[in-house]
Amino acid sequence: MDVGENPDSAQPEGHAAVARQEITRLAPSPTGALHLGNARTFLVNWALARTSGWRVAMRVEDLDTPRVKPGVIEQTLDTLAWLGLDWDSDPVIQSDHAEAHAAAMETLARAGRVYPCDLTRSEIEAAASAPHEGEREQRFPPGLRPNTLGPRAFDDAGTNWRLIVEPGEIVFEDRFAGAQRVDPGAGVGDFVVWTKRGSAAYQLAVVVDDAAAGVTQIVRGDDLIDSAGRQVMLYRALGISPEPTYRHLPLVRGADGKRLAKRHGDTRIDAYRAQGVEPSGIIGLCAYWCGITADRSPMDLAEFRDRLDLNTMPRSDVVFGPEDDAWLTG
Ligand code: GLU
Repeated sequence: MDVGENPDSAQPEGHAAVARQEITRLAPSPTGALHLGNARTFLVNWALARTSGWRVAMRVEDLDTPRVKPGVIEQTLDTLAWLGLDWDSDPVIQSDHAEAHAAAMETLARAGRVYPCDLTRSEIEAAASAPHEGEREQRFPPGLRPNTLGPRAFDDAGTNWRLIVEPGEIVFEDRFAGAQRVDPGAGVGDFVVWTKRGSAAYQLAVVVDDAAAGVTQIVRGDDLIDSAGRQVMLYRALGISPEPTYRHLPLVRGADGKRLAKRHGDTRIDAYRAQGVEPSGIIGLCAYWCGITADRSPMDLAEFRDRLDLNTMPRSDVVFGPEDDAWLTG
């Protein structure tokens, strides 16, 4: 199958052939630190959209980061525009959607799917069994649920709210990573959907915002595959359909195998830009990482778009090393 195409726009029988408008989104978190790994994911997402006829929405995920410094949202958009990316509607700021997030909570609460929970991290930790190696999240086991569950009203009164996670696998097809089976009950357990800060948790915000924008195509790093299981669960709990089509791409990592981060040096797009690196340098490096070229060489965005082929893109993680940095800045 051509993973860039969209076979699920097939028309129901007896309907006029009006193709469904496919919509994707670029969803940066405004941390001020978009790095080469983010650049690669956004370039691939954008190029797929432009060659497949998807609309591109821009959503700045300001709920996904603890503190948003003044000017950082503008900076994030400017960095992506500098790379040459464009989008088809005005940027949406996630925190502007608080009402829709709360309405989704009301739906979940009325259906008895969520409950308020004020257990602290250490209480949860003490009750959890031995944490597995490499596990980053504490599992919230069913035994910690309150005794009284059931339909209720949602009130945003300074506690976390958790989703009741039924045991069982969530199965979904990923058009890049293949068939996925995720078991959120065994993994994270009852996860937080509303935080005591008074705003939606990432998992809920993403689902509500994607549904509101009519997003049908999601392309992002494969560290979010696990989250996709939780998000599919939320689509189902909220009765939202169709569920989006996912493509989770391998990450760019440092030589130590860890996700690209500060310890690997300053790989922020803005830092390279400040050193005089051109967009074609960053795009050229990403083209090499995507298997478009056999060697690093500058490339413009139109060529990247036209030559990108997910069928030949390496399925393993990309390793960023000193040679990459030296080539960019050399
Ligand atoms: N804002 C998230 C990030 O930058 C992306 C979330 C998503 O694509 O669902 O990591």
